[in-house]
Amino acid sequence: ALYQPPDITKPCYVRVNTLKLDVDSALHELGKQFKVQKDDMIPHLLVLPPHTDLHNHSLVLNGSIFVQGKASSMVAAVLDPKPGWEVLDACSAPGNKTVHLAALMKGKGKIIACELNKDRAKRLEDTVRLSGAANIEVLHGDFLNIDPKGPFSKVSAILLDPSCSGSGTAAQRLDHLLPSRTTDVVDTVRLNKLAAFQKKALAHALSFPAVKRIVYSTCSINQIENEDVVNSVLPLATSNGFQLATPFPQWQRRGLPVFEGSEHLLRTDPVEDKEGFFIALFVKKGSEKNSEE
Ligand code: SAM
Repeated sequence: ALYQPPDITKPCYVRVNTLKLDVDSALHELGKQFKVQKDDMIPHLLVLPPHTDLHNHSLVLNGSIFVQGKASSMVAAVLDPKPGWEVLDACSAPGNKTVHLAALMKGKGKIIACELNKDRAKRLEDTVRLSGAANIEVLHGDFLNIDPKGPFSKVSAILLDPSCSGSGTAAQRLDHLLPSRTTDVVDTVRLNKLAAFQKKALAHALSFPAVKRIVYSTCSINQIENEDVVNSVLPLATSNGFQLATPFPQWQRRGLPVFEGSEHLLRTDPVEDKEGFFIALFVKKGSEKNSEE
């Protein structure tokens, strides 16, 4: 019998690039063609019916709106950088979250967008150009080689969205459901490798002396890339003065209950929420009151 993938219909989400267009104008423009409303949780995010085809829409082509899923749009919002901050996006390409950060910072302050892969760094530059943000410096290199005490020692916040298995995305999940799939051993090796990098990168982020907020995110549903990574750095986080905070406390789905404190973590479900994401937020103790600085 032919393999029939499950029907996954999800609303189409677009994030208004407030560097170029305000939300009401976007609602007005899109409302001429589509049924559109504001998302109830994420500012600047609009919800359209499933299968809305926007890829040739003038607002997409001119960078006024970005097609970006809800879970993906949570990440920069959780970091919540303030205008004027210096922020490091550790693993940036293709740059959706980078330009979201720029919009949240109203184009003020500085974003260093690091990307290891040369071709992907070019894509990142294209995204930055399209967004109109003038405060993003693209850095083609290895995040692990950035000296925390070097030229970027003053960064106040780090967004770490490292390479992951992508097992939370619909395409990957369908792939897992294919009957002919026989790659379990390869998967374990690959997952272990990814998790080792993710732990190293998160530990590195925790070593920047002026950082007040760190967001760690993946589009994976695997505990080994998510809760286990966070759990492994907790002793270092604590000794460097960080604690886990609770992003979007009203969100029901939290981390798997595998260690004390995992209720702070946020998960989205690949079926119920149509996309499996994971978000952890580390906050430097005592910095909460100064978040407007
Ligand atoms: N945050 C991006 C966005 O929302 O558009 C997606 C980032 S993607 C999940 C991870 C990226 O990290 C890839 O482009 C990969 O090339 C890059 N990467 C992997 N290892 C890296 C490293 N050591 N330093 C910097 N970037 C790295």
